[in-house]
Amino acid sequence: MTDQNRSRRLTTASGKPYVENENSKSVGARGPLLLEDFILHEKLAHFNRERIPERVVHAKGTGAFGTFTVTHDITRYTKAKLFSEIGKQTKLFLRFSTVGGEKGSADTERDPRGFAIKFYTEDGNWDLVGNNTPVFFIKDPKKFPDFIHTQKRDPRTNCKSATMMWDFWSLNPESLHQVMILMSDRGTPYSYRHLDGFGSHTFSLINANNERVWVKFHFKTLQGIKNFTAEEAVEMKGKDPDFAQRDLVEAIDKKDFPKWAMKIQVMTDEEAQAFPWNPFDLTKVWPHGDFPLHDVGILELNQVPRNYFAEVEQSAFAPAHVIDGISYSPDKMLQGRILSYTDAQRYRLGGNYEQIPVNRCPFMVANHQRDGLMAVNGNGEDTPNYFPNSFDDIYVDESYTEPAVELDSAVAGWFDRNGANDNDHYSQPAALYNKVMNDYERHNLVANIVDAMSGISGEKKDIIINRQLCHWFRVDMSLGMAIAKGFGIDINAVMQHAPKQQAELV
Ligand code: NDP
Repeated sequence: MTDQNRSRRLTTASGKPYVENENSKSVGARGPLLLEDFILHEKLAHFNRERIPERVVHAKGTGAFGTFTVTHDITRYTKAKLFSEIGKQTKLFLRFSTVGGEKGSADTERDPRGFAIKFYTEDGNWDLVGNNTPVFFIKDPKKFPDFIHTQKRDPRTNCKSATMMWDFWSLNPESLHQVMILMSDRGTPYSYRHLDGFGSHTFSLINANNERVWVKFHFKTLQGIKNFTAEEAVEMKGKDPDFAQRDLVEAIDKKDFPKWAMKIQVMTDEEAQAFPWNPFDLTKVWPHGDFPLHDVGILELNQVPRNYFAEVEQSAFAPAHVIDGISYSPDKMLQGRILSYTDAQRYRLGGNYEQIPVNRCPFMVANHQRDGLMAVNGNGEDTPNYFPNSFDDIYVDESYTEPAVELDSAVAGWFDRNGANDNDHYSQPAALYNKVMNDYERHNLVANIVDAMSGISGEKKDIIINRQLCHWFRVDMSLGMAIAKGFGIDINAVMQHAPKQQAELV
C-alpha cells in the first residue's frame, strides 16, 4: 500500500465518506438494525457479488506480465509485426493453469497445464492459448463437453471418478498419446517455470508476399524440465496446494525471471500432402527429425500483476484472436475453439470483456460496437454507431486480406474422425515410449498408469480395464505386459483381445 493510499478517506463506491465502518446503525445499543444503514447494505451486497463464474476448464491459474524479444529472423515466413526485426520487444501476459480442477484445487494434480499467452502487438492482441503438451485427448470439438465431464465430478457421488475417465479414454483411443504424456511424470510438473509450452494446434504463417506455411509454436523452458514423482505431487498437495502459484510469484519477486525459448516448426503445403498423418490432427506431433525447430525469440516473465482478480481472473484468451501474418488452419479442434473461447469469455465476463484493462488492445481499436453490460471505455462517445456513414473516417483495409485456403474436398458431411488413414493412435505414443523415455521414466509411467487405473470400480470395471489394456498393448507389448503385471492380470486372457481392431474392441 502506498502512503497516498493510506491517507485516503474511506468512501462508498459512489464517493460518500464513511462515518462508521465497524458498527451497524441500530435502535439502541442492543436493538435491531435500521434499513437505512446503506453502507452496511453496500458492503454485504458487493461481497455477495464478488465471485464470477469460474472457468469451466482451467479454473485454477496464475499469471504474469513479461516481454517477448525476437532473436532470429522469421520474416520469410510471416509479416506479423512482432517478428519484424531482431531485438524487437513485445509486452505480453501469460496465464498458467491446471485444467480439470476447480478454483481451489491443488496445483500439483495430475493434469495438463494451460499455457495461454496474450501478446499486445500493434496489429492487435494475439492470443496463443495452448498447453504444456503438444497434443490433446480428442481431435473433434464435438467431443469436448463429454470429455470434460469425465474429468470433473460424478453426477451422483460428486467425486472425481477414475471409472468415468478411463471409460471415456478406452472408448476413444485417439486420447492415448495425450494420456501417455499425462501419465508420465510430465503430468505432475514441479512448477509452472519448469515446463514447456505449446501452441499445440497447427496454425499458419503468412509472409509479405501473401505466401502461407503451416506452423507449430513451441516454448522450451530455460529453467529445465523438472517434475514431481506421483508421491511427491501428493505430498505437496497436502503441504501447499498453491505451490506453483507461490513459486512463480516468489521467483519473479526475487528477480529470477523465468524464460522460455520460442521455436517454430514449419510445414509447406507439399509437405502437408506427403505427411503420413493428418497434419491438422491435434492428437499428433510433427516429428522433430522431419520438421526441425527454428529459433525465434525469448519470452521472459518479469512482473507479477498487482491485483490477482483484476488481471489474472479477468484475463480472457481466445484462439480466435490472431493477427496479420498469423492465421488459422483446418485443425478441427482449433476451428471449434475459435467459436467456443470467445463465447466462454462473453458468458464469464460479459460482451465487453475486451474493454477490461488486461484484455484491452493498447493500440488503436476502431469499430461500431456499442452498449451492453459494462461499456466502460466511453462507448464511442458521440461518434457514429453504424457503418457505412458520412461522418467518421473508419474504413475497411483490404490490404489485410489473407490468401484463400485450398481445401481437398467439396463434399460436406459427417466424416469419421478415425476413418481410413486417421486411425493410427499408436505409432506416436510408441515413439515416445521407445525412443524418448529412459528406463526411469518408463518405470514411473507404468507405476502411474497402474495407480490411476486402480481407481476404476463398479460393475464395468473389468471391461474398462481390459479395453484400456488392449490399447497399451497396441502401443508396445512390453508396456502392456508391465501394466498387466502391475494389476496381477492373466495375460493370456488379455492377449486374446490384443490384436483385434478398434471397432471390435468398442
Ligand atoms: P524427439 O526425440 O526429437 O523429441 C522428443 C520430444 O519429447 C522432446 O520435445 C522432449 O521434450 C519430449 N519429451 C520427453 N519426455 C517426454 C514426456 N514424458 N512426455 C512428453 N514429451 C516428452 O522426438 P520426435 O519429434 O521424433 O517425437 C517422438 C515423440 O516425442 C512423439 O511421438 C511425441 O510423443 C513426443 N514429443 C514430440 C514433440 C514434437 O513436437 N515432435 C514434442 C513433445 C513430445 P524436451 O526437449 O523438453 O525434453
